Amino acid sequence: MHDLPYARPVVTDRTAREQPLVELRDLGRDYAGVAALYELDLEVAAGQAIALVGHNGSGKTTALTMLAGRLEPTRGTVKVAGVDVYRPGGSAAVRSLVSFVPDAPALYADLTVADHLDLVGLAHGVEDFDARAAALLERFDLAERRHLLPRELSRGMRQKTQLSCALLRPFGVLVLDEPVSGLDPPSRRALHGLLAEAKQEGAVVMFSTHQLGFAEGLVDRVIVLADGRVAMAGTYEHVVASGEVDELGLS
Ligand code: ADP
Repeated sequence: MHDLPYARPVVTDRTAREQPLVELRDLGRDYAGVAALYELDLEVAAGQAIALVGHNGSGKTTALTMLAGRLEPTRGTVKVAGVDVYRPGGSAAVRSLVSFVPDAPALYADLTVADHLDLVGLAHGVEDFDARAAALLERFDLAERRHLLPRELSRGMRQKTQLSCALLRPFGVLVLDEPVSGLDPPSRRALHGLLAEAKQEGAVVMFSTHQLGFAEGLVDRVIVLADGRVAMAGTYEHVVASGEVDELGLS
């Protein structure tokens, strides 16, 4: 099997390595004057993974979409590799560094699985494209379905197509909104392994999930959101032991 170094090594010198790759400061968002996220403060270094956990409506999508450069914050800042994402020029940093998987697969109705990968390969100038694309299709068990259109795929297969596109391109920060939903256990294991590899390569991995168990053995920190506020944050073990997730019915 082909080795898959997905992540773009964005941090090259020693001084930069000590700087966080992702910095969220007092990050908040209102919709029509109502706060969906109050104040999120977070620093994430290269090679770290964070899980955002919380009920529907707790603010996970809002936080991740702002990190991905697709939703202007009402308050606070998002910095990726030291660049303020919402200042002029910031969108270029996002495009080159942040790979984003939205909560619902957004695929082209007239393009096959393989076409989607071709498109991403071209747009992002993916090196060693054939081997990487083939390895991803293999690991997500999509190789035999690569000539199918989105309407011919199950929900989980569409999700895996979207995940393959995000993992194929170079990135320094991988942001995934509910990547596990719709995946069967073998696909979940494949994704867990791929995220662990991305992390090992030095990427920041941030994802939201309802399935706290998916974060086990993968993340450095779990952040529990409730009604737009951080209810608890800590290591996976700490959060599980605290009982907070039981109390919120999230375990
Ligand atoms: P989660 O991802 O945890 O389910 P969201 O970030 O999607 O939470 O939503 C947080 C809150 O913001 C919810 O109360 C939701 O109704 C509200 N919200 C999200 N998007 C919009 C929008 N585009 N317009 C108005 N309210 C929104």
